[in-house]
Amino acid sequence: MICPGCLKENDEGYCTKCKKELFDGKKVEPILTLKSPYIDDSDLFYDNTKKISISGVQVKYSLKLDNNQLVLTEKGGQYILKPIPTGTFKHLDQAPANEHLTMQIARQAYKLTVPPNALIYFKDGSMAYLVRRFDQRGDGNRYQQEDFAQIAQMTSETHGENYKYDLSYEEIADLIKSYISTYRIELEKFFRLVLFNYVICNGDAHLKNFSAIQTSHGDYVLTPVYDLLCTKSHSPGESDMALTLFKNRFSKTYEAYGFYTYDDFYLFGNRLGIKESRVKKIIQEFKEPADKLVTQLIDKSFLNDKLKKIYNDNYYERVNRLSMNPS
Ligand SMILES: [Zn+2]
Repeated sequence: MICPGCLKENDEGYCTKCKKELFDGKKVEPILTLKSPYIDDSDLFYDNTKKISISGVQVKYSLKLDNNQLVLTEKGGQYILKPIPTGTFKHLDQAPANEHLTMQIARQAYKLTVPPNALIYFKDGSMAYLVRRFDQRGDGNRYQQEDFAQIAQMTSETHGENYKYDLSYEEIADLIKSYISTYRIELEKFFRLVLFNYVICNGDAHLKNFSAIQTSHGDYVLTPVYDLLCTKSHSPGESDMALTLFKNRFSKTYEAYGFYTYDDFYLFGNRLGIKESRVKKIIQEFKEPADKLVTQLIDKSFLNDKLKKIYNDNYYERVNRLSMNPS
């Protein structure tokens, strides 16, 4: 058996470490007492959905832990549950497994800050992605959090319907510099996340998928990562990245190839003000992940075989691009 949290070998259900991180050690089964939202007598009523859904296109539910059971809640949600999304994209039944795998790769292979997450099943057997909220304070309130559309003061009213896609990653970095006092540390995290989205083929890392959160000291840092998945598996024709790397130009190599290669990320890291030796080291980590860990995680994931292959092929194509044109 594979633990539906960390994807490591385990006897049954969630392993001890995952139980500790996700449920403070409580013995929670990977099967909910709820039925999936797509069957007629579902427990998840439409009105309930509407009230408790969190911003975003996909329907999300808010859960809390009641003894050893995860239950729907309107207040004090500790978890977000994302069932299979509806829509016209391909292989959407695989989306929860895709997001879970991507978050595990982010955490285990690339050391990004990732909230505890796992796969869980509805009573009727359909899959959902479960993630622990990271904005909870001990006193029951939430830490103040703003995404980079809010920080840039961009809305559909001010910048039209595509406002989430209206800045570059370089401009997000400029906002980090002016908004976050410990920006040197945060910019390196941001650089890693942009590289991650590129190699994993997440083409939907727009302004609202980056956020800053207040700490208990009152200052701001970037939040743990969220909403990461290989979107290319569901939308093969999409553009490589949701935003362009640079404000106002493409590099000569980009113009020659039509996609970003080593040169672009090298330049991008330098523009962010990260030391050259660090830029090189970080890109190197994304070029040559240790011990084929990513391949192993893909293999152990809950994706079906067809999607495992698509995911793997997409990933290695991008990793190879990072070996092209090293400065
Ligand atoms: Zn585990």
